[in-house]
Amino acid sequence: MFRGERERERGREMRHEVKEEELLEKKEKNNNNSKEDDEFEVLNSGEVEVVSSTSSYLSLLTSQDRDFLLSPTGTQVKVSDLEGKVIGLYFSANWYLPCQNFTQVLVNAYEQLKICESKFEVVFVSSDEDLEAFNNYRAGMPWLAIPFSDLESKKALNRRFDIEGIPCLIILQPNGRKDDDGILHNGVEMIYRYGVQAFPFSKERLEELEEEERERHESQTLINLLTNHDRDFLLGHHPMPNRSVPVGSLTGKTVGLYFSAQWCLPGLDFTPKLISIYHNIKQSLIKDIDGEDFEIVFVSSDRDQSQFDLHFNTMPWLALPFGDPITKNLTKYFDIQGIPSLVILGPDGKTVTKHGRNLINLYKENAYPFTEAKVELLEKKMDEEAKDLPRSEKHIGHRHELTLVSEGSGGGPFICCDCDEQGSGWAYQCIQCGYEVHTKCVRPVD
Ligand SMILES: [Zn+2]
Ligand SMILES: [Zn+2]
Repeated sequence: MFRGERERERGREMRHEVKEEELLEKKEKNNNNSKEDDEFEVLNSGEVEVVSSTSSYLSLLTSQDRDFLLSPTGTQVKVSDLEGKVIGLYFSANWYLPCQNFTQVLVNAYEQLKICESKFEVVFVSSDEDLEAFNNYRAGMPWLAIPFSDLESKKALNRRFDIEGIPCLIILQPNGRKDDDGILHNGVEMIYRYGVQAFPFSKERLEELEEEERERHESQTLINLLTNHDRDFLLGHHPMPNRSVPVGSLTGKTVGLYFSAQWCLPGLDFTPKLISIYHNIKQSLIKDIDGEDFEIVFVSSDRDQSQFDLHFNTMPWLALPFGDPITKNLTKYFDIQGIPSLVILGPDGKTVTKHGRNLINLYKENAYPFTEAKVELLEKKMDEEAKDLPRSEKHIGHRHELTLVSEGSGGGPFICCDCDEQGSGWAYQCIQCGYEVHTKCVRPVD
C-alpha cells in the first residue's frame, strides 16, 4: 500500500515498532513465573548450541520431543519435509493490528508463490495470548505453525533472532551458513515493498531490486511515463471537450496521476473532495511568481468509453485517453494496489509520493506540493495539536472507549471506520476490535 521514499521508510518503522510496554506486558503474560524463565535460559542456550553445530536451520523448528509442525488443518507435517525450501519464520500475534494487516499481504504473496510452485514455506511463531486466539488467527493462514503449547520453542526462536517487534518475518535460505550472513530479518518490509518479485527473498535479490528501482527512478520523466509512439498528448476540456494537450506542456509542474474509476465506491467520495482541493491549490498558485503550477491527470479504469466520458466530464483536469495501453504500464509501474490512488510527480518528473490520497485526506490543500519537507512540517504541526487531545475518548460510533495512538504507539496506516477514508499518524483506536478513526472524525459522547 505504501515511492515517497520517506513514507515507505516510516511505514516500515511503524510496522516494526511495537510499543515496548506492550511487548513487555505480553512477555510477562507468557512467563507466568520467573522460575520458568530460568529453565528457559538453560534450554535456550542448549538449543543455540545444537543449531550452530549443523548447517541447516531446520533443527531450530524442532524440539526434543517434537519433530513436526502443524498444518493449516491441524495435521502434523515433518520438519524434514521443509528441506530445500526458503523458510519465512513469521512472528506475529492476533492482538496487534499491524500484524493482522501484514498477514493479509503475506497470504496473498504465499498463494501466488504456491501457484508458481516456488519452494517457499512460512512457519508461524505465535505471540497470541491463548490457544483460542491462536486458533482464530491461524484459521486465516495457509501455512505451518509451531504448536501453541510449545512455549519453549517459541521463546527460543524469539531470542535466537532477537525479535524486538512484530510483525517480523525472518527469511532462512536452504543451505544457510553457520554464520548469520544468509539470514534476512526484514522480510516484512521486503514483501510490502516488492511482493513476490522479491522471491527467494535473499540479500542478493534485494540488492538487484533496489538497483532496478534506482535505475528506473533515474530515467523517469513525465514524457516517458505518459507518452508512447502514437500519442504525445492528453485529453483536456478547454476550450472545448476532448481537446489535445501536449504532455510536454506539463513539464516543470507538480503533477498528480489520479487512478480511479466510476465503479469504484471510495472514488465516488474522494473525487469531489479532490476536485475542490485541486481548485484551491490552483487558486493559491495564481499569484505565484516562480510560475509554479499543479495539474492532475486521470488514469481511468472505467469499463467502457461511455463510462469514461461521463466520469471524466465531472473532472476539471486532464486525462489519458480511455483504454490507452499506458494505463496498464502505469498501474504496474507504480504498484497500484487499490483505487482511487493519487501518485504525485515533482516538477522534474520524479515520483514525490504514492500516497497523495492519504495526504489529501490528512491535510487537504495544505499538502501541496506533497514533498518530504512539506509533510514533515505538517506532521510537526499535527504532533503539536495532538498534545491538546484527550488520551482517550468515547465516540458515538463505537461501544468501547478509544485510545489516542500515533505511529510510535500502536498506530499505523488505517481506514477510518467513520469516514471510510485512509489515515495514518494520530488516530483514536479500539485495540480490542481494530476499530480506528481519524482524530477529526471523533464525535464524543456527552
Ligand atoms: Zn475519518
Ligand atoms: Zn471496541
